[in-house]
Amino acid sequence: MKISFVVPTGDIVNEERDRFLTDAIGGCWHEDDGGEPVTMFALKGHICSKCGLFYTTKNDFSTLEDFLKLYEWARGDPSLADFVAQSRTRDLVNEKRGPGARKRFADGLYRILTARGRERDNV
Ligand SMILES: [Zn+2]
Repeated sequence: MKISFVVPTGDIVNEERDRFLTDAIGGCWHEDDGGEPVTMFALKGHICSKCGLFYTTKNDFSTLEDFLKLYEWARGDPSLADFVAQSRTRDLVNEKRGPGARKRFADGLYRILTARGRERDNV
């Protein structure tokens, strides 16, 4: 009989991961320079001091909208094809399984890319 149990693994700090991935896909990790919040379209947010866009939240790859940018980017990179193929798209967009599947995808991608960065640094 095979006994298996889930070993708790250290959770990747979301903000560090999201900042890294935003940078990797060429997005802007918005910053407000500590400015006062502004209200636009009845939404409270900030004007980014780097790109000038109004934003309400940082990129958070748990939402489908932000996640799809990351997914499309990964799909366009042939060196990530094996990794992308491991995830089933219907899980990623699934209402119930989606949040967990998207988190695993973002965590996995973060691990791959940071490991590659370390390899490059050691050359
Ligand atoms: Zn920005």
